[in-house]
Amino acid sequence: MSDGIYDLAIIGGGINGCGIARDAAGRGLSVYLCEQSDLASGTSSAATKLIHGGLRYLENYEFRLVHEALAEREVLWRMAPHIIWPLRFVLPYHRGLRPAWLLRLGLFIYDHLGGRRLLPATRTLDLTKDATGRPLKPGQYKLGFEYSDCWVEDARLVALNAQDAAERGAVIATRTRLVTAERGADVWRLGLQDRRPAGGTKTISARILVNAAGPWVGDVLALTEGRDAPASVRLVQGSHIVVRRLYEHDRCYIFQNADNRIIFAIPFENDFTLIGTTDSDYVGDPAAVKATAAEIEYLCAAASEYFAAAVTPADVVWTYSGVRPLYDDGAVEAQSTTRDYVLELDTKGAPLLSIFGGKITTYRRLAQHALEKLASYLPAAAQSQRDWSGRTPLPGGDFPVQGFETLVTDLRRDYPWLDAGHCRRLARAYGTRARTVLAGATGKAALGRDFGGGLYEAEVLYLMRSEWAEQAADIVWRRSKLGLRLSVDQIAALESFMAEHVQECAAQ
Ligand SMILES: Cc1cc2nc3c(=O)[nH]c(=O)nc-3n(C[C@H](O)[C@H](O)[C@H](O)COP(=O)(O)OP(=O)(O)OC[C@H]3O[C@@H](n4cnc5c(N)ncnc54)[C@H](O)[C@@H]3O)c2cc1C
Repeated sequence: MSDGIYDLAIIGGGINGCGIARDAAGRGLSVYLCEQSDLASGTSSAATKLIHGGLRYLENYEFRLVHEALAEREVLWRMAPHIIWPLRFVLPYHRGLRPAWLLRLGLFIYDHLGGRRLLPATRTLDLTKDATGRPLKPGQYKLGFEYSDCWVEDARLVALNAQDAAERGAVIATRTRLVTAERGADVWRLGLQDRRPAGGTKTISARILVNAAGPWVGDVLALTEGRDAPASVRLVQGSHIVVRRLYEHDRCYIFQNADNRIIFAIPFENDFTLIGTTDSDYVGDPAAVKATAAEIEYLCAAASEYFAAAVTPADVVWTYSGVRPLYDDGAVEAQSTTRDYVLELDTKGAPLLSIFGGKITTYRRLAQHALEKLASYLPAAAQSQRDWSGRTPLPGGDFPVQGFETLVTDLRRDYPWLDAGHCRRLARAYGTRARTVLAGATGKAALGRDFGGGLYEAEVLYLMRSEWAEQAADIVWRRSKLGLRLSVDQIAALESFMAEHVQECAAQ
């Protein structure tokens, strides 16, 4: 940073803010990112967690978005083959809903619209014979189609983008909220509130302000110019339910509903099935969003239309909910509102770039487009490195795209005392950096205190030192999903441990 002024200040530590921070820092720009809570504490930890083209968006003629998103699948998979992996989706034909020829046509377009080199193509299934027909209502679903998309650990993708940005020089300030924004002709002066118990305020300066506040994009705009929340954002709630594992095979289902929507049922965290999602307009504080009883009923009913064993609200072990910050294109129904992103550049003084909409899947392209849009305000050197982000692995992702099993085997060889499940979980979460987490330990005792569920002190301290974790929820619901396995008392013990160590870890 020259003259104490950052090139870019980014508001929001969700996928879009962290993606822009990484791309910008990799181009040599000085970057300051602030996040009012934990990384990915907003929408970016509440997704269905698919890196997908969005088969359904074809019906809304969103060809630009679907093309870009399909092409990103293999780019992102290569960048982070530990937290992203291919999945096969089974779409059963349902009499009275979309005809089989339309499904086939949609999937033909899906297979050919974006680059697909490694992911297998669509195939037709006889559900009376295929294993995927077995959990479904007998006799009702005979024909199905199976196609490819990918899974992503959404909140980890955010943390790894932040980590990579920081390793390239960006400042990542979590639990820090933008509270004032004063605009000059060339420079922003930004007032920041540290939200930790003893936190104070401070001011930083930046030449460009990027508003990547997701569902809060309107609030940040209001701060910057006293403008009311703009009409161009539409907040749409989406909820998921998690139940005990419903079936044995490793494929996912995409079910069509009579209301023209679709829902997914996806193998989740080995022992569970994830079902979602919903679409309903949302009013209120996005941080307070919660799955409603009506949404839980809806998801159970939609799944029970297909599965032989009914899914009921009593089966639900966890729910989560998020607010989509969609660009308001005036669609009548929430489900039809565009999923594409819009970048709004305001140059009435120092530049302000606001981001509306976007998918986890397209975050990297969104970041590139954001920096292109700002090109005339950036040094020439930053403009010349346009395409580095897709060719460089994220932290821990520096192994071959189809080499995950080899990574696990190598880890097991070098750490034979680790349980198989524990070893695999660490490989999934940290990739090649699992070795940094294990820090040369030669036995379980060296991993320190055991918090339960395969979580040890060594991992907790790694997350606190290298991934900005400060509270138990940061670890058990965002850096991992161990909250599904830990008891309330175990989480409380983790909370006390983290509170004791937070100062010393932050200082490192
Ligand atoms: C139910 C659901 C399912 C989805 N499924 C998928 C999917 O399967 N695949 C896919 O690709 N996409 C999916 N999406 C879309 C995707 O999750 C979002 O588009 C994406 O996460 C938005 O990221 P973001 O960075 O814009 O917003 P956020 O993740 O919300 O980040 C914005 C951040 O800004 C912070 N912030 C706000 N105001 C301030 C301030 N004043 N100071 C500091 N920080 C501030 C917030 O705390 C927040 O963390 C889904 C979305 C939902 C809701």
